[in-house]
Amino acid sequence: MADTDTPADAGTEFDYDLFVIGAGSGGVRASRIAAAHGARVAVAEEYRVGGTCVIRGCVPKKMLVYGAMFAEELGHPENYGWTIEGKTFDWPTLRDFVKKDVDRLEGLYGNTLANNKVEVFAERATIAGPNAVKLASGREVTAGKILVATGCWPAMPDFPGVEHCITSNEMFHLAEQPRRLMVVGGGYIAMEFAGVFNALGSEVTLVNRTDRILRSYDEQIVDRMLAIAMGRGIQMRMHSLIQSVEKDADGCLHVDLGETDKVVVDQVLIAIGRQPNTAGLGLENAGIQPGPKGEIPVDEYNRTTCESIFAVGDVTDRVQLTPVAIREGHAFADTQFGNKPRTVDYSSIPSAVFSQPPIAGVGLTEKQAREQYGAVKVYSSDFRPMKNIFSPHAERGLYKMIVEETSEKILGIHMIGPEAPEILQVAAVALKAGLTKQAFDDTVALHPSMAEELVLLR
Ligand code: NDP
Repeated sequence: MADTDTPADAGTEFDYDLFVIGAGSGGVRASRIAAAHGARVAVAEEYRVGGTCVIRGCVPKKMLVYGAMFAEELGHPENYGWTIEGKTFDWPTLRDFVKKDVDRLEGLYGNTLANNKVEVFAERATIAGPNAVKLASGREVTAGKILVATGCWPAMPDFPGVEHCITSNEMFHLAEQPRRLMVVGGGYIAMEFAGVFNALGSEVTLVNRTDRILRSYDEQIVDRMLAIAMGRGIQMRMHSLIQSVEKDADGCLHVDLGETDKVVVDQVLIAIGRQPNTAGLGLENAGIQPGPKGEIPVDEYNRTTCESIFAVGDVTDRVQLTPVAIREGHAFADTQFGNKPRTVDYSSIPSAVFSQPPIAGVGLTEKQAREQYGAVKVYSSDFRPMKNIFSPHAERGLYKMIVEETSEKILGIHMIGPEAPEILQVAAVALKAGLTKQAFDDTVALHPSMAEELVLLR
């Protein structure tokens, strides 16, 4: 059973009822909900309130994606009767507008904490004991409960010259748009930045250690993504690993990919996953042993092996997604301070890659469904979106629905095409509700739309 102390039970022997380390998505949600339940809450943030999602992740990335979409929209306006003179792209303008909005959002997050009377320490905090936190200023404070919500940090490989490479953190601050960009990795971040900078006109080379990218997504959808990305000019170097990087006097990076394969670029973005941020956090002072990746092991109530210490979000390495961290933070606060024990349901979480075009999926991929269920049925629609009819790219969308063979209960929905994430969010409700394909067949198409393909699957 979950520990359900109320603030009244917690008493005042500590400076705070709750001390949160890390003001990202999970930490901010937990802080404000615990405070709303009446707890005395403080949060420490060593960088900027908002964390990865708001400051250097989902939010600024999505704005870059919107910026890049103009390239596509403006690419063939004449077919719609438009003449647009002097089309040029200026990276610093986009970068600075994104930065301005990130500043605005950071302010809003700060206001939320202030309005909920959460005290914010703008400094690093580490665990000094089961109920003690040490701040960078040297001050030590105590709390009935401590929540670790420190997130993840980009993983870096080890090769000579790796110091010349950057991570997604730096991509938002580049002084100039790289004319030639190398992206290392085949995950979310790699595909999103490769798509953005390709659309913005950079020469993009993607280096991946195997021939598979985006492993958690349906293979057929990913194959379509790869074909489109190559059609748009992204150079794919599969089964490749960087051996070394050398910087010349002009600032160009000479990348050795082994044997005689050498590529010269202006920036190398490393996107090979993110590691839990627990180094130097003082977990040993509370007897907490991190897992092999540095993650904090927790149970379904976000409890660590130390009774008074909890963890939520990416630092626990369960599902590295913002909405999941938010749910975990909320459930933690309700459980510990609201007398409402709650856990998070991790099944059928929808997700998307904001590549060009985007991919979205929920539930089992075709391969996973065949492994788990043996025989399954797959319905699909392979179509050219009306939006692409005037486009020089003959790119096609692909929607797939995987269902149980006899009941036709939906097991997975996977899509690639314009606006796929917007459409999939709603379709995910159907899967979560346990609906069958019949429910889609019974629904009249909304015409003309791309989403109607979901009720016309054959
Ligand atoms: P991912 O885990 O998505 O992908 C990592 C990629 O790097 C894989 O292709 C992996 O290959 C490869 N890789 C791993 N280790 C090495 C290595 N040592 N050398 C070369 N390649 C390697 O990581 P990302 O960094 O792209 O993203 C981190 C997390 O951030 C994601 O898990 C995701 O949850 C989250 N995120 C979510 C977004 C969204 O929801 N749209 C957007 C951006 C990030 P292999 O497959 O062979 O292991």
